[in-house]
Amino acid sequence: MTTIYEVEHLHRPDGWLSPGYVEVGDDGIILSISADRPEGEVERLAGYGVPGLSNLHSHTFQRALAGRTEFVTGARAEDNLWTWRKEMYRMVDRLTPEDYEAIAALVYLEMLHFGMTAVCEFHYVHHQPGGRPYANPAEMSDRLIAAASATGLGLTLLPVLYAHGGIGKPVEETQKRFVHSVDDYLSLIETLRSRRGAHRNLEVGLALHSLRAVTPDEAKAALAGMRAIDPQARLHIHVSETTHEVREVEAGLGARPVQWLLDNVGLGPQWCLVHATHLDAAEIAGAAASGAVAGICPLTEATMGDGFFPLVEWHEAGGAWGIGTDSHYSTSTAEELRILECGKRLELRRRNVIARPREDGGEVHTGRLLFDTALAGGEQCSAQGGGALLAGRRADLVMLDADSPVLLGHGPRTALDAWILGGTRNPVRDVMVAGQWVIREGRHAGEEKIMADYRRVMAKL
Ligand SMILES: [Zn+2]
Repeated sequence: MTTIYEVEHLHRPDGWLSPGYVEVGDDGIILSISADRPEGEVERLAGYGVPGLSNLHSHTFQRALAGRTEFVTGARAEDNLWTWRKEMYRMVDRLTPEDYEAIAALVYLEMLHFGMTAVCEFHYVHHQPGGRPYANPAEMSDRLIAAASATGLGLTLLPVLYAHGGIGKPVEETQKRFVHSVDDYLSLIETLRSRRGAHRNLEVGLALHSLRAVTPDEAKAALAGMRAIDPQARLHIHVSETTHEVREVEAGLGARPVQWLLDNVGLGPQWCLVHATHLDAAEIAGAAASGAVAGICPLTEATMGDGFFPLVEWHEAGGAWGIGTDSHYSTSTAEELRILECGKRLELRRRNVIARPREDGGEVHTGRLLFDTALAGGEQCSAQGGGALLAGRRADLVMLDADSPVLLGHGPRTALDAWILGGTRNPVRDVMVAGQWVIREGRHAGEEKIMADYRRVMAKL
């Protein structure tokens, strides 16, 4: 049995079909996209149908900290990523597996509401406080899988290899929850890959926490091990988020972080360089040409005061990029893309900073360009099989309500500009992941339970 939808306005890589017909197979894969009505019963969907976005960077539990560190004291007059991290570690010390699952479910539900259909979870809280593994060494990973299953969000799980508290430094007490040997790490990867049979839309990739937290030998051994398990696996790393990190890596390894990766492990399209905020011209040229994706987390980088990603230089070098919501000050697609574009407008004092006129002089729309670039980058980093409404891709369809105040008065020409750059009301009405509706008319079937569990955790933390 296949299902056929007639979508009033259907997003295509090169424009829109109005209407467009989407035929979805029982396996959740798109069988065909067409401007012509196929034979059979058709369900009509009003509004704009766009592909679901993969969020390329998340630490779900950090959501519980949002808004709790927005003050200064005499003891913390200078506040930055590193002082914030102390507060984050205080929360890590208290987190139970139940808390972890409840927070993840809430965050994943919110992502769906904002039109995301998959997330790359950069997961490093593996063990009990003090560092002893749980009876099930994959306990905390399994909690994330359970949260994704409960919400229907696609999950690219990236267990993180974390071994040191900085270059040449032992781990701190809190960091003991994060630590694996390379062998134990690879065996966790194997365990999680074995979960894929029982869980839909689950992928497993590799993450190195950073060049501060793994030695060159550990990084190379983990990458070789992953390559032997799955040569196509996605590879993620935090890199060049702060100038402090760049200086530490330069002093310890003799090169800037992205340059070190280019020279010592090689970058390519499987890589997601999370943050990549502080790059010099050679790093931009080399990393962009490698096909690696820059994993920009605009609102998190802003709240941490990290610095601003060199968006225009990277984009003009042909670099792929996408967005992550990282610490989840926001889980909104529009909000993240808006701060990226509009922050650059403030900095550069001009409008439409990454859009350039087409060769034929035709219009290029910034909202559309931001969304389409983030779609491609997100899919490249998550390997979920969606990212576009095309035959053979996973049927991840997000319906935007044309009656939302954000979209009233617009048509296909400017609808994505209006959603991404204008208005605050969320126009996402229905969300399909792999052919299954998980949100209809703004409602998810698990909403009450997820909220009740989250309320209980937040009252305690
Ligand atoms: Zn991160």
